[in-house]
Amino acid sequence: MSRRVVRTVCPRNCYCTCGMLATVEDGRLVKIEGDPENPATAGEVCVKGLSYVERVAHETRLTSPLRRNGKGQLEPVSWDDALDEIVAGLWSIRKESGPLAVLHYEGSGSHGALSGLSEAFWNPFGGVTRAHGDLCWPAGLEATRLTYGANRHNHPTLTRQSRFILLWGHNPAETNIHQWRQILEAQAEGATVAVLDPRCTDSTDAADIHLQPRPGTDGALALGMAQIIVTEGLHDGDFLRDHAEGVDAYLDRIGEFPPERTAEITGLEVGAIKDLALSYARRQPALLIAGFGLQRHSHAGQAMRAVALLPALTGNIGIPGGGWQYANLNSHCLGPPPALPASDGVQSRSFPTSRLGRSLQELSDPHLRAAWIEKANPVSQHPRTKEVIRGLAGLEMVVVVDQFLTDTTRLAHFVLPAKTLFEEEDLVNAYWHPYVQLRQKVLDPPKGVRTETEIWRELCVRCGYPTEAFDIDPTERLRAMLPEGHDDALEALRDRPLDLSGQGDVAWEDRVFETPSGKVEFTSEAATQLWGVDSVPGFDALPEGHLSDLSEQYPLQLLTCKTRERIHSQFGNLEGIREVERPRVLDIHPEDAAVRGLAEGDVARIWNARGSAEAPVHLNPGIRKGVVHVLEGRCVPDDPWVNLVTSDGVTDMGFGAVFYECRVEVDLP
Ligand code: SF4
Repeated sequence: MSRRVVRTVCPRNCYCTCGMLATVEDGRLVKIEGDPENPATAGEVCVKGLSYVERVAHETRLTSPLRRNGKGQLEPVSWDDALDEIVAGLWSIRKESGPLAVLHYEGSGSHGALSGLSEAFWNPFGGVTRAHGDLCWPAGLEATRLTYGANRHNHPTLTRQSRFILLWGHNPAETNIHQWRQILEAQAEGATVAVLDPRCTDSTDAADIHLQPRPGTDGALALGMAQIIVTEGLHDGDFLRDHAEGVDAYLDRIGEFPPERTAEITGLEVGAIKDLALSYARRQPALLIAGFGLQRHSHAGQAMRAVALLPALTGNIGIPGGGWQYANLNSHCLGPPPALPASDGVQSRSFPTSRLGRSLQELSDPHLRAAWIEKANPVSQHPRTKEVIRGLAGLEMVVVVDQFLTDTTRLAHFVLPAKTLFEEEDLVNAYWHPYVQLRQKVLDPPKGVRTETEIWRELCVRCGYPTEAFDIDPTERLRAMLPEGHDDALEALRDRPLDLSGQGDVAWEDRVFETPSGKVEFTSEAATQLWGVDSVPGFDALPEGHLSDLSEQYPLQLLTCKTRERIHSQFGNLEGIREVERPRVLDIHPEDAAVRGLAEGDVARIWNARGSAEAPVHLNPGIRKGVVHVLEGRCVPDDPWVNLVTSDGVTDMGFGAVFYECRVEVDLP
């Protein structure tokens, strides 16, 4: 029997980007373990990582291209026939309508630096339409960039030095298990853990303080906390004098948020807000970790700016154990693949990604006629599901590259089987820890599966486009993508992850910020110039929030949060996951359920003007009254299709999605 253990990395859209050790026996993946060489993930993986053994060899994994036949069914087709017909379709559309009549839609299902090779096809094709922004986190990224100049934070292991940890709209017990381990260690050594979340979660269960503000009122809460901190003289005057810009206007703004008004907006008690603000300011070093949920509404950027300023106000920036944690892009230092064809003269256009459904139908000059979709399941994951379906159904050709059949492949004319992370070597960055990692190849793809690199090359060959970008030795290609001065890092990466950023473990230890003023920007003229928002963060009621006219007809706020067992619509098809995951139910407070005549287990209709979805009722006294919740991530037919009711609005900065700004009513169908 042959047996190998290969160091690799999980490239899912997940905070952790775990180092993994994959054991292969006789050509079969038999075991996944955490890689102890990654200091942040320290030898552990989650249940999804463990499930790769099942996923890679799953009986429903696609191992042949599929083509939709005249009866509307997908049937196997040879690679040559599939690619010939796809190229013929693309060429015909390009000739008649130009390259922008084709959409290249790339999601975040699995990431790696080689995805840049798609340019080797689209550049000579003359361009392509794309989506910009992101469904997940861009308002928070932009708010952090405007405030601090860059997205980075302290090394994860410094969390253990914190004395106060404030988790703002964040549930790391489920979504960042490695961060959670560090938080629990800090708590065991005396740190206070506070959580702001309208729901009860595994994280709130372990917290010392749990407050449940109304969704979408975080900006007001942050400004109100700042008002209390300044009134009590607990702000760091020296830091503000030396390292902050625009403080006077900010102090004027927080004066508009006395505790009583803050309590009225957020639905929290005055005393609870004061206790939280004073505890946060008094216990140093204090670490504020923001999740993505609080920036999934249309005023997200301004709210995130308000929250992000609290660490600077209290002098918690640039010190171990303190800080602002949202995203750490220190590892985002990889270059594009070498030898890509020039992009001179290439046409481009794009639309905010949350608007996919309507853009598919409404873009003109030229109208979209074809879509190439990879690493994504937009029918399940995008808001306004009906519009996405209508948009895709109206195209002449939809090509989906995926490992499994999904809600989106149901609308595809061609489905091309995708490799797994184990089947091609690639470089992977992260967004929580600072490490670049080498995703070493562990297995050959199954017979019938080609890597995306091979697919793009085949398309180029058929079109007579240059193939230099593909003909480079794969190892040398990856080496060329490493940052300057790190040519020899590739060999070292076979043994361990590397922090190539040169930033050190403490973010902004030198108090030099990459903002226009070189300081923390409490007032940002760039925010006004780029996004048309007030230069000072504030709070305005949401168009679809609790103060809107819609709240009378739709009294409940729907949240669609993440869980530990899936990444969006991935993993739910695996037995090992379905055995352990929690059911997908409608969490509703018993009092909200009682006035609607709903009982435990009833199948409820969740609806608004955009559509309706159904889910079994779970009476949950832990959820804030007026808020209901369904886990996102449909991947099997009996999961609720919650994006039928979510909005395709766009955040005030960064072109994000507004999933959590969603008023609904709930009743029996
Ligand atoms: S899904 Fe996230 S936590 Fe799980 S193994 Fe992958 S990177 Fe680690």
